[in-house]
Amino acid sequence: MTIDLSNQIFHNEDAARAYFEELHWPNGPVCPHCGVVNEATALKGDAHRAGLYKCRACDEQFSVTVKTVMESSHIPLHKWALAFRLMAGSKKGVSAHQLMRELGLGSYRSAWFMAHRVREAMAERDPEPLGGKGKTVEIDETFIGKPDQTFVSGKGWQGKRGTATKQKVLTMVERGGRAVSVKVDDLTVQTLKTVIGKHVVLDSTLNTDEAQFYKPIGKRFADHQAVNHGDGEYARGVTTTNTVEGFFGIFKRGMKGIYQHCGEQHLQAYLNEFDFRYSNRSALGVEDTERAAKAVSGARGKRLTYQRPRNARAS
Ligand SMILES: [Zn+2]
Repeated sequence: MTIDLSNQIFHNEDAARAYFEELHWPNGPVCPHCGVVNEATALKGDAHRAGLYKCRACDEQFSVTVKTVMESSHIPLHKWALAFRLMAGSKKGVSAHQLMRELGLGSYRSAWFMAHRVREAMAERDPEPLGGKGKTVEIDETFIGKPDQTFVSGKGWQGKRGTATKQKVLTMVERGGRAVSVKVDDLTVQTLKTVIGKHVVLDSTLNTDEAQFYKPIGKRFADHQAVNHGDGEYARGVTTTNTVEGFFGIFKRGMKGIYQHCGEQHLQAYLNEFDFRYSNRSALGVEDTERAAKAVSGARGKRLTYQRPRNARAS
């Protein structure tokens, strides 16, 4: 990753504020209280915080961070700009420790919370469905985390066999397009039918492995081809799940190296982050700077709804 660190938005508070204002208000300041566009007076002078506006329609005051994931943060905007840039540009993600170091933040907890807010900005609330006529959507499931431990006489604590206690993820990737990943409670036909039905257009061709639960679901789609991994088959003509497996490869390397133990309640947030970078990758013409700008734009209208845990280290 190369970042143009000489860019003033990463050093100068006024430049950073101008960057956020330009992305959030391309047509002039928008009052977050009454919604009126470009009818605000910039409040200048020592009596006011920098970046404060007063709406001429409703008389309320606001700044660019109101009703965004940055609201009520004490971290300066130029550090936010760098956090967005680092997280948008790093293929495998950035740990809270790394963020703390690079941004010179005072505490691990601030860095952790900041990273989660950026992740929230990256989350697509209602992604457009994948696929369509003539398009192929690869679907696969994977398991994240350590299995529960069980005490085995003579061997001590051992990971339970099987995957029952691991967290389950279903990822759908449109070949040459975007990815949508969903944390699921189980891998029953009913659950997968709901998730896949919501995110994949019925005109699509599905490519999956040979798992039984995909068979009844695949019948609803234009076509369904399965590769038989059990027989050592990884591709048959254009039928393959290599794309979605590649996505899991990146996700798992990121989770292993950077996010040591992901609490179950945060798994979807990490999936959203990896989906965001994948769906806005350079192969699709989205370069680092633009990807960061997209994440910044996504910061509006989102507030974190969960509480920061006392021990933030665990995720
Ligand atoms: Zn207003």
